[in-house]
Amino acid sequence: MADLLEESRARTAMRRSLRRWYDRHGRDLPWRRNRSLYRVWVSEIMLQQTQAATVIPYYRRFLDAFPSVRALARAPEQEVLRLWEGLGYYRRARNLHRAARQVAEAFGGRIPRDVEQLQQLAGIGRYTAHAILSFALDRRLPILEANTRRLYRRLSGPASEWGDRELWAFAERLLPRDRVADWNNALIDVGSLVCTPKAPRCWECPLQRWCAAFASGETETTEGREERPTATPLQAVAVVLEDGGRWALRQCGEGEWWTGLWDFVRVHLEMARDEPPTRTEVRALVQRETGIEVGICEPLSVIRHSVTRYRIRLDCFRASPADSRRAQPKNGYRWCERSEVETLPLTATARKLARLAMRRCLREGHAGCRS
Ligand code: SF4
Repeated sequence: MADLLEESRARTAMRRSLRRWYDRHGRDLPWRRNRSLYRVWVSEIMLQQTQAATVIPYYRRFLDAFPSVRALARAPEQEVLRLWEGLGYYRRARNLHRAARQVAEAFGGRIPRDVEQLQQLAGIGRYTAHAILSFALDRRLPILEANTRRLYRRLSGPASEWGDRELWAFAERLLPRDRVADWNNALIDVGSLVCTPKAPRCWECPLQRWCAAFASGETETTEGREERPTATPLQAVAVVLEDGGRWALRQCGEGEWWTGLWDFVRVHLEMARDEPPTRTEVRALVQRETGIEVGICEPLSVIRHSVTRYRIRLDCFRASPADSRRAQPKNGYRWCERSEVETLPLTATARKLARLAMRRCLREGHAGCRS
C-alpha cells in the first residue's frame, strides 16, 4: 500500500497488470462499444442500484425509443416511465428526463463536457459526472462507487478507516495518463467480478501483489457485509375494479412511492395480520377509497413483494361496481380502457395484476375483455 502511494514504479506495474487483465477479461457491454456522452450517461443512470445484466435490455429499448438527448427531452414523462417500467428506482428516470430538458434548454441540446456543469443536471453527482466524462471522452477523472470503494479499501488495508475524501484522493493518485476509460472500467470489473463483497477471488486478482488486505490475510473485510435492517411487515389490498372494458386506476403523486406511475385501487391496512381481508372489508375499503359501491368481489391472488425496508403482503381482488351508471370514481382514480393501460407506466404489482385480471377475464369470455 505504501508502495502504491509512494513509488511510481509500483503504480506503473499495477496499471500494466490491471490493463492486461482487462484486455483479457473485461466485460463486453453495449455502453462500452458506442461511447457517446449520451449513451454513457443513460447507462450510468440505469446502472445505479442495478446489475449490468438486468440493465442491458432496458438500455437497448430506451435508446431505440430515444436515440438522442433531444429526443428524450421532447418525450412525455409517461413514455419515459413506461420504458423504465420494471427497472425500479423511478426517480432515476424522472431525473434523467428532467436533465435532458435542462440540456435542451440551457445548453442548446449539447451535453456539457465540464464536470461542474454536468453536476448541475438533475441526478448527476460527482461519481456520475466523472464516469460519464472518463468513459466517453477518456478524461483523466477518478471514480468512486460501491465496487471501487470496496476495492480501494482492501488495497489500502490498514488505512481502511478512510472516508470518501481519502478514497477519492487515493483513486486520483492511481489514475494513469491515458486509456482512462479502460482503467476505470477495469476497476469496476475487478471490483464486481473478483474483489466481491464475500469470498473475494484473490487467486485470480491482477492487483494481488499490491493489496494490503491480501498481504495481511484480512480480505474478508466488513465492507459490503453490513447488517440489513429488519424488514417491517405491511399488508395492503389491491383491487382491479372493472366496469365493462374499463379499469379504475390512478397516477401516484409527488411524495408517494412510485411517483408518476399508475396503480390499481390500493389501500394499506392499519396492521399486518398475514391473513386475507374478508370481502365485506374489501368492499368497505374500496368504497372509502374511490367512493364506488362494490357489487361482485372475488379474490385474485396474493403477491408478496418488498419496497425499501417494507415486506408487503398484497391481497389482490377483482371487483365491479354495484351500479355501473353511478360509478364515477373520486380521489384521482379514473376509468381507463384496457388498451390504454398497455401504454401507461404501471407499478410492478399493477402490471402483474393487469395480466392476471386479463387472463381471468379472457378465460371467462367476458365481452369487454376482447377489446
Ligand atoms: S487481492 Fe483479493 S482482496 Fe485484494 S484486491 Fe484482489 S481480490 Fe480484492
